[in-house]
Amino acid sequence: MRTFVTIFIISLTLGTTGGTTHVEAQPGTVQSTFTPARLSPGRRYRTIERLAPERLAAVAADRAALQRSRKAVKLGHGLTDYRAILHAHAEDSAHTGGNRAELLAAAKRTGVRIVMLTDHVRPPRDFINDSWRGFHDGVLFIPGSEGEGFLNYPVNSVIEHYVKKQERSGTDYVKMITANGGNIFLSHVEEKIDWSTTGLDGLEIYNNHTDMKDEFEFIGWLRGALTNPARLDQLNSLLTRYPLEVFGALQDYLAPVMSKWDRDLRDHTLTGVAANDCHHNQVYEIRAIAADTIEISIIGDPPRRVTSSQVPAIASMLVGHRPGDLLARVDLDPYESSLQFVTTHLLLPSLSELEVRNALHLGRAYVAHDWLGDPTGFAFVARRNGRRVGIMGDQIRLAKGLNLALEAPLPGTIRILRDGEMALETIDRQANLQITDPGVYRAEIWLTVDGEQRPWIYSNPIRID
Ligand SMILES: [Zn+2]
Ligand SMILES: [Zn+2]
Repeated sequence: MRTFVTIFIISLTLGTTGGTTHVEAQPGTVQSTFTPARLSPGRRYRTIERLAPERLAAVAADRAALQRSRKAVKLGHGLTDYRAILHAHAEDSAHTGGNRAELLAAAKRTGVRIVMLTDHVRPPRDFINDSWRGFHDGVLFIPGSEGEGFLNYPVNSVIEHYVKKQERSGTDYVKMITANGGNIFLSHVEEKIDWSTTGLDGLEIYNNHTDMKDEFEFIGWLRGALTNPARLDQLNSLLTRYPLEVFGALQDYLAPVMSKWDRDLRDHTLTGVAANDCHHNQVYEIRAIAADTIEISIIGDPPRRVTSSQVPAIASMLVGHRPGDLLARVDLDPYESSLQFVTTHLLLPSLSELEVRNALHLGRAYVAHDWLGDPTGFAFVARRNGRRVGIMGDQIRLAKGLNLALEAPLPGTIRILRDGEMALETIDRQANLQITDPGVYRAEIWLTVDGEQRPWIYSNPIRID
């Protein structure tokens, strides 16, 4: 599927639209290149193996069993858990297929209460003033952009920077976005492992598009399916029966990104968020063009023509059709799937733009692959003598009797890491860790589905010093 690669190139091109920004590598930062392992942590199957009907059925059965074992979390964190998405594209570029009304409808169906848009910057269009801001049918929209390598959520318009192609240093650019409480996150971290994160609110610890980039075998498999009527029918029937299992087949643990987060966290606070990077643009349409030719089109890419002399199997697709007829449509990324695949849960006293910005700044958030199981209620807190003394994002003084407590609505493999190193591992729905050493403590929970371990929850850290 060429388009994923194309979008990547387009994102890179549009990402540098406007003023020139230089973000220097932090002195002493470990340099590394993004080389994902062939089978990333927890995997037993390659993506195309995960797409076999029996594998998808097994994942669906295990998800249902997990759902039946769900129990309400008793451990309190004192705030309300809201489902948010960051890094969402709608009617913002030629390669985006979806619009804001469609995104809103998907948010309502999936329980997403906060949508943080990231338009590709197209001056003079103003991504703050010419977008949605505030509540739409109960869903809070916060406009922003993807540009200069960041997710940008300024409080006020910054379009002058792009219109006038102003030159700013990396530090000044970050200051411009964060003025008056704006938020900024490093985006597509796999391309920026050596970038400084000083002064940022956080970074994308998971990005759906990043996870897709190394799926060359799947892309070839999909390309083959589009010119094979039997496989095409099977793919569409699997998408109907197992929409989330198919979407989730590419899910990996982005180890190089997580390592950067752990390294940078030792130096400063940095909120981990998820990037949906949804565009609703992975929609293929196959049309008859001539008696022996089909055309395969996808948003943002030139169409591809295939003749029956090149691929004999397509002849049967054309029987009884006239030029222009739509023969098949494959929709791989409806917003409804993207929004259930991964979210950022925010812990808020009340739902407002100000509270959202504050929670993102402080790290009162966790990332979850909701499609595996609803994580709502997940708690990771610091306690002393049975009393809560801190939650995710807090900084706490080391003291006698301090412990970290975690509870989730589903049982899984819980890992608590201290400065990136394993401090506790258990299979349960809750865990407790006595704290005797300072450090940055964060938690992960992995769920077992179809014999594989899949990352489910990534907490933000509690810092103890
Ligand atoms: Zn894009
Ligand atoms: Zn994007």
